[in-house]
Amino acid sequence: MTWRVPLADLDYGSKEENAVMDVIQSRWLTMGGVTQKFEDEFAAFLGAKYAVAFSNATVALHLACLTLDIGPGDEVVAPSLTFVATTNAVLYTGAQVRFADILGPRELTISPDEIEKQITPRTKAIMLMHYGGYPCRLVEILSIAEKHGLAVIEDAAHAPGASLHGRSLGTWGDAGCFSFFSNKNLSTGEGGMLVTNSEDIAERARLLRSHGMTTLTWDRHQGHSYSYDVVDLGYNYRIDEIRSALGLVQLSKLEKNNQRRKAITECYWDAFSNTPLELPFRDSSGEPAYHIFPVLLPQGVDRKAFIDELRGAGIQTSIHYPPIHQFSHYRKLFPDVSLPQTEDIAAREVTLPLYPSMTDEDVDFVVSAVKQTIVELAGQVM
Ligand SMILES: *Cc1c(COP(=O)(O)O)cnc(C)c1O
Repeated sequence: MTWRVPLADLDYGSKEENAVMDVIQSRWLTMGGVTQKFEDEFAAFLGAKYAVAFSNATVALHLACLTLDIGPGDEVVAPSLTFVATTNAVLYTGAQVRFADILGPRELTISPDEIEKQITPRTKAIMLMHYGGYPCRLVEILSIAEKHGLAVIEDAAHAPGASLHGRSLGTWGDAGCFSFFSNKNLSTGEGGMLVTNSEDIAERARLLRSHGMTTLTWDRHQGHSYSYDVVDLGYNYRIDEIRSALGLVQLSKLEKNNQRRKAITECYWDAFSNTPLELPFRDSSGEPAYHIFPVLLPQGVDRKAFIDELRGAGIQTSIHYPPIHQFSHYRKLFPDVSLPQTEDIAAREVTLPLYPSMTDEDVDFVVSAVKQTIVELAGQVM
């Protein structure tokens, strides 16, 4: 189907094409100098000491857990209103998840009070997700973590370039993980990054990223070594030079593109302020990354009808997220979880189109279609 306005779109052009051609012409495709440059520039951009690139964010989250020694017998407190990879990464290690509810309709991120209720003697870490690129309640959460001696991992997949009190999201916890999947603010097709200020975590993540081997093919190609040892059970979680080259170009566009996302978001907020729609994060603090634009339908409005009506106008929408604890696989593992705020919001949420190359005309088109649809459907409920 071709959409009049899709949910998301790439900002790709000749710079990305040239960057890929340069890598091909260099005749070195697997992880090497371009990846190193991408890591260095990403770390500098965020103000983090170390950045380690990966084939995607899911494996970066897995290694964030492993490098913090999370494993069987441990528990990690996490939200349910997120992409399933956030908690799958915890389960890969053999640890258990303790789901904590979100704050509510104005702030769709994990609640500090609810985190505290889930802490037990087995708790090892708190996993955060900066929904839409809007900051979690980091100051409160970090002090809870400190009080209980817990690690903090940030799933910052939505949040490259976002900050709170001048400090980049992803650099508040022990490790922060970013995704470069196609629809993210910085896209390389597939790709991820772990950032940390801990030399130990960075070193261990690099080792486990490549089979636990002490040297890379790249090192040997450069003549720095001729053999290697294997010192841990590692994985192949590497990125490649083509994706890293794309990442470098996309990183150079990130600030400008996040500003455009902000302008569109503010336009939406103004346009919908006198409608029955609830608008989460309107009074959020910090500088968000404006990754997605969520709205909440009033109780009783038929979400499927709303989505279908917009689809009819050529507007693509999405739902962020079907909550993890309600998936079949998770219901088997965690049958007794009840999260009233998460469940209420997940049933009413719709995500509208948001991407930097959206024109003002596209925005106006979405605004008028959404206004017309919500007035019509809310009228039927009253
Ligand atoms: C996209 C996403 C991920 C997974 O990223 P991949 O790079 O696709 O593995 C994890 N968490 C959240 C919140 C995401 O949006």
